[in-house]
Amino acid sequence: MNLRILNHLPVDFFTCTPTNLSRLFPNGTLICLEGKRKNPLFLSCLLHGNETSSFYAVLNFLKNTKPLPRSLVLFFGNVTAASKGLRQLPNGPDFNRIWAGGKTPEEQMAAEVINFAKSNHVWASIDMHNNTGDNPYYACINKRDRATVALASLFSDKILFFEKPHQAQSIAFSQFCTSVTLECGKSGDQIGVGLLTRYLEKVLSLDSLEQVALRDDKLSPFQTVGRILLPQGLEIDFNFSDSSTSDLSFPPELEQFNFERVKKGTIFAKLPRALGHQCYLQVVDNLGQNVTPKYFCQKQNNLVVTEDFTPAMLTKDIRVAKDDCLAYLIENLS
Ligand SMILES: [Zn+2]
Repeated sequence: MNLRILNHLPVDFFTCTPTNLSRLFPNGTLICLEGKRKNPLFLSCLLHGNETSSFYAVLNFLKNTKPLPRSLVLFFGNVTAASKGLRQLPNGPDFNRIWAGGKTPEEQMAAEVINFAKSNHVWASIDMHNNTGDNPYYACINKRDRATVALASLFSDKILFFEKPHQAQSIAFSQFCTSVTLECGKSGDQIGVGLLTRYLEKVLSLDSLEQVALRDDKLSPFQTVGRILLPQGLEIDFNFSDSSTSDLSFPPELEQFNFERVKKGTIFAKLPRALGHQCYLQVVDNLGQNVTPKYFCQKQNNLVVTEDFTPAMLTKDIRVAKDDCLAYLIENLS
């Protein structure tokens, strides 16, 4: 897979949608646009093909921003998956797990992107994503220096620090420029697209990240401390019913727990068919150790919280919950 570099935006771009963008260019295309300040802002779009807010925000922003106050490098990741409305192709890689080197065509393409960004002295990088569940808009960072926190804080006061997975785009870019990942709500959420469009306008007009005033008391920095995993074989529903025929019956408003404190004693799920020693869900810490008893216990037909915790990315999408995780556990970064 060769990296394709264009020095102009194809005219048809403005009438494109994520599903027909692949007609204009293939996976892994960089578009370099000249602006007043020379060190470019790198925008990473559609690494996950079904997370379309990045595409619409960049399109809106480019329509309205002329001339550009700073040069831009646009990267469109998995446009083939986007054409099918998929996060990634069934047998293809996750485009946000290809940035730590390797021999696959996609990993080599990512390495070329990194080399290009380094040799063009990229000023900062913004990788844009969506969540499957209801979450507030938040930013993720991999370094805690002032510039990184400043770039994140312009998007949200909720900031999540993570160091894994190490193959993520923002981690690779954080080695040589200021780098953030933005989580812009559900895919195509119009409020998220609007927020992202205004954010891009604001960042592009900055001379330096030093200009951004930081109010520590207004920021909520978190770090991930673990994940809640769901065993593949279990039946799940969201009716919160004692008479359900499922193994686990979560409350319908489960996703409203995102970024909120879940208190000790809360019934996290009903276990209508409680069968004794069955494993209903598993909590693993960052080292992969099973720490489930710290957070949950079974009391009669209920799964009860035994220690306060804060979840993020809780999802009611059962496929995502089983393949990846039901939620991340986060804690205030001290
Ligand atoms: Zn994503």
